[in-house]
Amino acid sequence: MSDILLIYTGGTIGMHRNPITKALEPFDFIRLISSVPELASIGAHIETFQFNPPIDSSDMSPQKWCLLVNIIYANYEKYDGFVVLHGTDTMAYTASALSFMMENLTKPVILTGSQLPIGQVRTDGKENLITSIEIASAKNKEGFALIPEVCIYFHGRLLRGNRATKSNADLFDAFETFNYPHLGETGVNISYNILHVLKPKHQDYMIPHTVLNPNVIVFSLFPGIQENLVRRIIGITELRAIVLRTYGSGNAPQEEWLKKLFHEATANNIIIVNISQCQKGTVEMSRYDTGNWLKSCGVISGYDSTVESAVTKLMYLLGRYRDTVKVIQNMQKSLRGEITK
Ligand code: ASP
Repeated sequence: MSDILLIYTGGTIGMHRNPITKALEPFDFIRLISSVPELASIGAHIETFQFNPPIDSSDMSPQKWCLLVNIIYANYEKYDGFVVLHGTDTMAYTASALSFMMENLTKPVILTGSQLPIGQVRTDGKENLITSIEIASAKNKEGFALIPEVCIYFHGRLLRGNRATKSNADLFDAFETFNYPHLGETGVNISYNILHVLKPKHQDYMIPHTVLNPNVIVFSLFPGIQENLVRRIIGITELRAIVLRTYGSGNAPQEEWLKKLFHEATANNIIIVNISQCQKGTVEMSRYDTGNWLKSCGVISGYDSTVESAVTKLMYLLGRYRDTVKVIQNMQKSLRGEITK
């Protein structure tokens, strides 16, 4: 029997409808658990921890990521796996952040939630919760965790956390990893895609990293983008990095003012990471002139990274290294399977 720590942060899965305002509000976790008597029949011993108060995931923050890492670290030896119940809106950010903040992770950390509250008739929450616990409990022949990484399990798909994106606000089928195969799929059985799962050194200790530097922004290019606005952003004293969402395979308008500003920014130790506005595919700055000039300004490739992964990886690296060169070198490497290189 596996020991699982179930951490409830909040989100729709545990919400109920306020009878007066009719809006969904975070709810008591004990009530949530009593809606799922099936949990008693899973071959796992489950203990719980709840955020007090539970939050809508729009209120998630780097401080709360640190809290999650500290909870997992403090309980790391005691449990075989961790299931984190989380709102869907920022789940991919949390999954990405946790993947970077826990180095040498050898146990499953499975994030899940639902589109409908668990107490509601057509809820997707029960299946998501029950299967996540089964995945977090799964071991291989040697007795090691089958999925020793941070994942999102949702609507029959097991996804690498730092590759995932919330892709649908309405359907149960809400998450996808556009640039990486699913790590598992559920039907009658759970079938795992073990070839694509990370293979940690099980003898190594997990190292938690809880210093994050959030002085990062994301901005998208669009036809008509204005010089005075971009100049203001780049001039912000605290700014350490920009996740730049470019066109197609990493292209940008060849405006002299933009070149000058990007040159100034990178010379000023601001890291600019080029990721595509397309959900699928990778940045290849040398493919067109419109991408190549970015390279000559010191802009670095984010490859096939998601926004969520690029932002949280920068926060983690900027918190860990003072030296910009080190941050840039590590941005170019796959640290936890987050980019294809
Ligand atoms: N707003 C909710 C949240 O992210 C949505 C959800 O849980 O699906 O907390």
